[in-house]
Amino acid sequence: MSTYRIAIVGAGPAGYFAAQALQNLATPEKEFAIDMIERLPTPWGLVRSGVAPDHPKIKTVSKVFEKIATAGNFRLFGNVELGRDITTDQLVDIYDAVIVATGSSLGKKLGIPGEDLHASLSAADFVPWYNAHPDYKDLEVPLDCETAVVIGAGNVAMDVARMLALDPGELDATDTAHHAIDRFKTSKIRRVILCARRGPEHAAFTAPELRELPKLEHTNVIMNKAEVDAAIARVGENAEKDVKSNLSAMELITTRDETFHDRTLEFKFLIAPTEVLGDVRTEAVVFAVNKVEDGKIVPTGEVETIRCGLVISAIGYSAESINGVPYKNGKIDNNEGRVEGTNIYAVGWAKRGPSGVIGTNKSDASDVIKLLIEDLTNSPKKKGDISSLLPGHEIVTQEGWEKINATEVTRGETLGKPRVKAVDLAELLYLAKSK
Ligand code: NAP
Repeated sequence: MSTYRIAIVGAGPAGYFAAQALQNLATPEKEFAIDMIERLPTPWGLVRSGVAPDHPKIKTVSKVFEKIATAGNFRLFGNVELGRDITTDQLVDIYDAVIVATGSSLGKKLGIPGEDLHASLSAADFVPWYNAHPDYKDLEVPLDCETAVVIGAGNVAMDVARMLALDPGELDATDTAHHAIDRFKTSKIRRVILCARRGPEHAAFTAPELRELPKLEHTNVIMNKAEVDAAIARVGENAEKDVKSNLSAMELITTRDETFHDRTLEFKFLIAPTEVLGDVRTEAVVFAVNKVEDGKIVPTGEVETIRCGLVISAIGYSAESINGVPYKNGKIDNNEGRVEGTNIYAVGWAKRGPSGVIGTNKSDASDVIKLLIEDLTNSPKKKGDISSLLPGHEIVTQEGWEKINATEVTRGETLGKPRVKAVDLAELLYLAKSK
């Protein structure tokens, strides 16, 4: 029997699914001791700090993560940051393989004038702010204006727009950060406009997200019927299944009876942002109006200016680079997960970029782990332990995390919430050590 020592860096869905694949593919000849390293004191990555709090069902995958974590050959090293507390060279030396599962946390930039004005934010900051990520708790989120513009036509833009447009009372029963609920309750925003640079048929939303919009109890949802009908006509019968499904969900929205709530979420297609206007603070966004011609997006030459006091761009992410790990085009430079010439592998968004839903990471990680196991031809290394590299460092173990988790869930119970997240790093570390 040989036990190979595997480090997984990043405790998000891709990291857990990589651990699960190692557990599933272990044989009596090749067994695995898995050490998961996470820079925060809390695991679960985007399931904790990305998934919209009004989507609790998606978060139930955390039960799978906890099963993986307690399967016996798994250790959590929370509050340990690669690059700060340990180096890639150290990991590569000690472990038979190092799996990078650090995701994509940097919001892509629009690259237009005015983008850095006050009240122009990236979803990469706004989303972790309302999800109680310790690094974003002090983000300044100006909600003192009537209109907010959200740029992008993916599920993150949809989450952001919905969070801004729903009645904040609907968040009381969720695990939204308390600081964010308080701010949403005094928010003056009543009109949220989601702006897509291409047509309804090109939107990256998924149909379930569109289908839930009419269920918003306190928000008018507006899509232009002529625009959606034109998209349906353009794609015809031969459209891909996902596109058809999206368009039929949009058609339902356009054919509903009008509602008359205080809050409105409006979708505008075929407008591409060219400038954020304002002196110090965002005052408007200028868009070039597009049209679809022979299946291509072309500018009409017209310009539309939308006055707003807040703009949030949700146009995708790129991975943060890691010292000692090759990086290319916003991802870890890899070939089907292998980082050539090393014992490093990449999974999830760090490997393929920010695409797919949480479940996508399961098959993706499993494919990479099969290659990793194929590559394990030498006998296992028997060098040291990560703890020996971190003398005196406050490590949050699985047991420590379970204490944090239990406290958060208990705090939530009395308030009818799934949990109340601790948001302060010092408090999280304190809870991890509690009796
Ligand atoms: P995404 O799905 O790739 O969408 C990015 C959007 O930004 C696209 O509509 C893109 O338009 C637009 N965009 C890019 N550059 C732009 C620019 N310069 N100006 C204007 N628009 C621009 O990315 P995402 O929304 O960040 O989501 C990432 C992944 O997470 C996706 O796979 C998503 O499905 C997933 N996710 C899933 C859920 C869920 O299941 N509920 C929730 C959140 C996220 P073009 O198409 O024209 O490039």
